[in-house]
Amino acid sequence: MKILIINAGSSSLKYQFMDSVSGEVYAKGLCERIGLDGRLTHKVPGRDNVVEDIAMPTHAEAMAAVMDILVDPVKGVIASTDEIDAVGHRVLHGGMEFTASCRVTEEVCAAIERCIPLGPLHNPANLMGIRACQKVMPNTPQVAVFDTAFHMTMPPKAYIYALPYEYFENDNIRRYGFHGTSHRYVSARAIELLGGKPGLRIINCHLGNGSSLSAVVDGKCVDTSMGLTPLAGVPMGTRTGDIDPACLQFIMNKYGYDVDTMLNICNKKSGVMGISGVSSDFRDLETAAEQGNERAQLALDKFAYEVRKYIGAYAAAMGGVDAIVFTAGVGENSAEMRARVMEGLEYLGAKLDAEANRVRGQEAVISTADSKVTVLVIPTNEELMIAQDTAALCQ
Ligand code: ADP
Repeated sequence: MKILIINAGSSSLKYQFMDSVSGEVYAKGLCERIGLDGRLTHKVPGRDNVVEDIAMPTHAEAMAAVMDILVDPVKGVIASTDEIDAVGHRVLHGGMEFTASCRVTEEVCAAIERCIPLGPLHNPANLMGIRACQKVMPNTPQVAVFDTAFHMTMPPKAYIYALPYEYFENDNIRRYGFHGTSHRYVSARAIELLGGKPGLRIINCHLGNGSSLSAVVDGKCVDTSMGLTPLAGVPMGTRTGDIDPACLQFIMNKYGYDVDTMLNICNKKSGVMGISGVSSDFRDLETAAEQGNERAQLALDKFAYEVRKYIGAYAAAMGGVDAIVFTAGVGENSAEMRARVMEGLEYLGAKLDAEANRVRGQEAVISTADSKVTVLVIPTNEELMIAQDTAALCQ
């Protein structure tokens, strides 16, 4: 089936038009500055990119612009929007309401709306994306795919926070976890590569600009590092990861910050960017560290150390580990970071093969033949998962 995938943000809308079986991408692009002025960047493999300024007061105009360019006789890839068999939407927060992808109905929209307090920045935008598609393609089936859904198999001891229980009961405050579509894709792929043995214990390291780890037993998530929001877990490009919440009280009192200012610092100015003062981009940090920048080196050391600690924690939680998977921008591309993370994990039975670890952006086993734990690089493909879910629910 030909599936259009939509990832709507507050002022942006990413799209990818692809085949759910072959994985072939026909076209993809991005609408930016929605609500301000509007710009569309459209990419078709083998052709020059198209960049157009188009007025986009709301997501509806952005969606109409995407439809127009997809059917444009010169820039487009289809003759009519009828060739779009279904639309798959990436939705950030499914709260306790969604444990899997589902067809979009009015009840589903109402449930996504009920999850807005849990995902206040993303869920309203995701809903706008759905509404915009309903407007321009009223007869095309739509599917919602949730970033949280894969993690809903976690047991209560993994998802409960040690807060008074009433906040869980009354307000659904708990660990949810994100990047679920990526964790689901790479763990399924790892199980396939390892011959589909039952009971496999896998630790997924999705290391990108945002990073999260998950512990997966027999294909089901049993723990993950992000929490109620994507702010928790390991340090990230600009997010703190886990810190003592009393740090916030101290800083807010001393500098007179309100909660929003403080959380903005935690989300946008912290992580490896905050420690290094150089960049949130790991390539810049590696370059700066090579040139002797000590804070860039410290940021990289801190990141690798916290990822390694989570691997140790998840091995303990699962009573061992059979495979460790690296994925996303840093996990797929940085041999240095993979080596740094794996340093000292020999006690777990995980031995990295320095030669095999030189790969970039391709599927590979990077552990030695005698390593008890198989270490893998698996490029993630969230779009393909969304396309497959959408096709399966619309056939
Ligand atoms: P996002 O979370 O935005 O989807 P990605 O998964 O695309 O992020 O990861 C982006 C990160 O990957 C950036 O910090 C970038 O520096 C890093 N990255 C990409 N290529 C390399 C590389 N060759 N070496 C080190 N880091 C890399």
